[in-house]
Amino acid sequence: MARNYNIVDHAHDVIVLGAGGGGLRATLGMAATGLKTACISKVFPTRSHTTAAQGGIAAALGNIKEDDWHWHMYDTVAGSVWLGDQDAIAYLCHEAIPAVIELEHMGVPFSRTEDGRIYQRKFGGHTTHCAEGEMAARACAAADRTGHAILHTLYQQCLKHKAQFFIEYFAIDLLMDEDGACRGLLAFSLEDGTLHRFRAKQTVLATGGCGRVFESCTSAHTCTGDGNAMALRAGIPLQDMEFVQFHPTGLKGSGCLITEGARGEGGYLVNGEGERFMPKYAPHEKDLASRDIVSHAEGVEMREGRGCGDDRDYIELHLEDIDDEVLESKLPGIIETVRIFQNIDIRTDPIPVVPTAHYCMGGIPTTLHGEVVNPRLGGVNATVPGLMAVGETACVSVHGANRLGTNSLLDIIVFGRAAALRAAEIVDAEADVPESPKDCEDKILSRFDALRHNAGGENAGQVRAAMQKIMQDHFGVFRKADTMREGIDKLSALRDSIEDIGVTSPDLTWNMELVTALEVKNLCQQADVLAASAQNRTESRGGHIRDDYEDRDDDNWLKHTVAWRDEDASVEIDYRPVRLDTGRDDADTFPPTERKI
Ligand code: FAD
Repeated sequence: MARNYNIVDHAHDVIVLGAGGGGLRATLGMAATGLKTACISKVFPTRSHTTAAQGGIAAALGNIKEDDWHWHMYDTVAGSVWLGDQDAIAYLCHEAIPAVIELEHMGVPFSRTEDGRIYQRKFGGHTTHCAEGEMAARACAAADRTGHAILHTLYQQCLKHKAQFFIEYFAIDLLMDEDGACRGLLAFSLEDGTLHRFRAKQTVLATGGCGRVFESCTSAHTCTGDGNAMALRAGIPLQDMEFVQFHPTGLKGSGCLITEGARGEGGYLVNGEGERFMPKYAPHEKDLASRDIVSHAEGVEMREGRGCGDDRDYIELHLEDIDDEVLESKLPGIIETVRIFQNIDIRTDPIPVVPTAHYCMGGIPTTLHGEVVNPRLGGVNATVPGLMAVGETACVSVHGANRLGTNSLLDIIVFGRAAALRAAEIVDAEADVPESPKDCEDKILSRFDALRHNAGGENAGQVRAAMQKIMQDHFGVFRKADTMREGIDKLSALRDSIEDIGVTSPDLTWNMELVTALEVKNLCQQADVLAASAQNRTESRGGHIRDDYEDRDDDNWLKHTVAWRDEDASVEIDYRPVRLDTGRDDADTFPPTERKI
């Protein structure tokens, strides 16, 4: 039984949890249609992880060379290794063009061509003429700070439309009623420790990815997938969690990202024998092949003793041949990052890079309109009343087994907007806001209380480090049944420590030890699902590469994994079909075939 808390009660038409690009685009759309909208975030909105996005946002504008949204669609389908749903991909690529123009009109300061149009650069896996033509120039960029530019513009637009913000509030869990509908969430203010009940007709999870499941990753410390874990605790599955993208150019040591835009501007990779090895693996796209292909190639080079340095454990990225003027105007952030973290001047010396966990293709399954899907409620496409998810926490699924660079900023903008359009249709602004389900609230507070008052418990930071090491060692770029089994056993052995995580002080004001403890528990729950899903899929596809099942197996595995984690930590797996049909007249479908990019 939880202690008594004075809970501050709020009632809104819509609450959006998360103020990254996905959350802000949804918030903006909902507020603009007149719905009473609140956005809650554990960090100041413009410090959300979207601010780190560097290279660009994809749209077939054709500003530099010919382009077509159907080619964008083909690349996304092939890049997803046919695991992406083609109705969602058609929607993404078709809507990309107006979405980017809309961002421009809102004030995003894109870089410009000489004739004043939005600057576009090449990016891995983006081609013309369905991989029969040259590489496309499709990534709309604001230098190498595209996410930063978008996030600041969206925040200003939300303020203009009078959205209400609850900043530095940490959400604990969803309020689910006994029929499986979401009625809002419970959160606490980091600043003064007060507890808050946010009741709403519609709740939107926009909590971002869970990169911090891994030891070496490109994402911020805040990327702990809290929304994914809240969904799991609410009996909602996660989809395709085995598909993790390892970015080929994480800075050795820190894991900081060196944008693929660096290769888009002319950079190339070299092994320890001084060889440009990518043409061996991808004769057409070479250094601009899809990320899964480049990361795998780097892994093979290092494993076969052709890495760089005394330990043969990294690859070199060369940018020295690019004009200084281009580096300074198009990649200023990369010059700075590499100087700060490696003391290297990229104008004169190569950059040491390794494949680093970058993006989780999986997440909370949703419809095209952001509504959360839970097959346990009655059918593979059954939706959860009152709950939506957008952005990296969601799995629509447009990225399938492997995301193309610049398609995530696009995903968060296009589907953030789609969720807002849907909310405008289904939320009745005149209706009463539902009451909070008391049983659920008590359960959440008991769990919260147990952690908060467990003074002698395990240290969250140490438990996190142990879990991250297991995930890095056993579920990294190369996977195999016996090593994954060992990883799952190690996660089980760690379970008592995870359950016993505690905090030294129950104080609720700026208690970052408590916040870390909540986040680590969230991460560990996702690690269980990721591990079980990876062990279960006996094929290689996109970001999921197995040494013991080297081939893609469409006969048995052209399907989405959906995995529930029950309270006893057991993971139950089922499947959803991949939608190969676009369901529209203006778009071809691309049946599964041999992958060319
Ligand atoms: P985020 O921006 O991560 O926002 C999550 C929000 O949820 C935050 O506001 C946070 O405060 C809030 N939140 C989370 N948990 C809680 C909680 N418990 N309580 C309250 N609030 C909470 N993609 C591209 O397309 N192009 C690129 O060039 C590109 N570059 C990238 C560079 C890097 C280094 C990385 C790591 C990724 C890059 N990506 C890029 C991917 C892309 O940036 C992300 O996928 C995308 O920004 C995620 O946006 P989001 O809105 O889903 O989540």
